[in-house]
Amino acid sequence: MARGARALLFLLLAVPPASLPAQSGDASQSGDASRLVAALLGDTPMIGDLQALTDGIGGRPTGSTANQRAFDWALARFRDAGVAARKEPFRMPALWLERSARATVRGAGVAFGARVAALPFSTATPARGLTAPLVDAGKGTEADYAALGARARGAFVLIETEELLDLDGLFREYTEAGHIERRAIAAGAAGLVYMSSRPGNTLARHNASPGWANRHPMMMMERDAAARALRLLRAGTPLTLTATLDIRSGPAYTAHNVIGEIRGSTRPDEVVVIGAHLDSWDLGTGALDNGANCAMVIDIARQIARLGLRPARTIRFALWNGEEQNFNGSWGYTLTHAAEMDRHVMASSYDIGTGRITGFFTGGRAEMKDVLDRALAPVAGLGPFTHLDVPIVGTDNYDFMMQGVPNLVANQESANYGPNYHARSDEFGRADLRQLRLNAAIAAAATWGFATLDLALPRHTAAQVDSMVRNTDLVGQMQSFNVYDDWVAGKRGLRR
Ligand SMILES: [Zn+2]
Repeated sequence: MARGARALLFLLLAVPPASLPAQSGDASQSGDASRLVAALLGDTPMIGDLQALTDGIGGRPTGSTANQRAFDWALARFRDAGVAARKEPFRMPALWLERSARATVRGAGVAFGARVAALPFSTATPARGLTAPLVDAGKGTEADYAALGARARGAFVLIETEELLDLDGLFREYTEAGHIERRAIAAGAAGLVYMSSRPGNTLARHNASPGWANRHPMMMMERDAAARALRLLRAGTPLTLTATLDIRSGPAYTAHNVIGEIRGSTRPDEVVVIGAHLDSWDLGTGALDNGANCAMVIDIARQIARLGLRPARTIRFALWNGEEQNFNGSWGYTLTHAAEMDRHVMASSYDIGTGRITGFFTGGRAEMKDVLDRALAPVAGLGPFTHLDVPIVGTDNYDFMMQGVPNLVANQESANYGPNYHARSDEFGRADLRQLRLNAAIAAAATWGFATLDLALPRHTAAQVDSMVRNTDLVGQMQSFNVYDDWVAGKRGLRR
């Protein structure tokens, strides 16, 4: 145990029982929560699990061999811990994996190779590459495309970006990308090239916003090479780009989530879900996104089993798959378990790396705050916690939220999450192992609270979900993650 964690443990155990929540009417439940928290702050296999998953298995995009290995590994880790677990199938709409990507920039008297990564959902190029003029499309604004005029037609448009330093920058990138790509397609571009926004010439994958419907080659180019190309273009040197994107694509197929389960003792039909997605992109090894939180979910199940604790409600420990292609595994779960959705008391997602948990997004249900305050009492020393009652799109709470199920997303200090997001640099060494341990204690307390406390959180009706969509900024968020059309079409979410 880290020195700081030991001090914290002392602090936590020093909290007198009288200050713990009494509303459950069951002091032993509070005692159980404290024992669970203490166990998670101790020397558990969690860090070793994260290392096995990242260094040992590596990047694990859905549909890859590494992905299958990761899910077999996770199933075994639950079972080794004495936790019942199963693989549950769901449908992936299509296959997309990059085999390789390379590019060369050429002009009069100049030629240089540029490292590139295909954007997920990019089309492949012909095997000998696609050569087209490379043109300066500025920041990809309406004015930039207007200035380019007919020169965008049949060309690779090169988009200049700001360096991405934090989570705000990441949200900005998500918001702008859809517009930038739509304008490129409208201008008749042959393809699109983003200057990588990541420091240190790091490459990353940012989903092409048309999703599976995309019909263009799109890629990210290392920052310095893109900057050199832009300087040459701005100095009047015409350039071409030859890009060779080798993509493995295919039709719909079956993939699997892994669901661990600890049955409830007195209310076994009521279900609390704690989840994190086990799939990742593959430039790095998916430590921050989202191996760390998967190791945490497994460890929480392991410690509950090891201590022999019995929650009142059933807890499901979900390791989702297909998340990076817009939350397919958790969507599939809500379809498979449709008959049980009324009895899902709460579904939580952890997906912002290893920064400190500062509170939770309560998904447009203010009444969740009271339960959280009671649940988090055993870890008050790790706070303060501030909950934000806004609906949030971007991870596996989405389909639960659209099904009217109370849902939480852990809000975390952004720490180093933004610059390493989907990037070559998302590696074990970037995880804050001490904070991950503290987060495990917080997540365990939240989960245990919802699984044991007296609460009344009925599922929302279709009308209530519809009202949330109309009265918040959800539509824009849904469009950014390419899930709005499916909602309108009635494919995802409660039907109105
Ligand atoms: Zn993620």
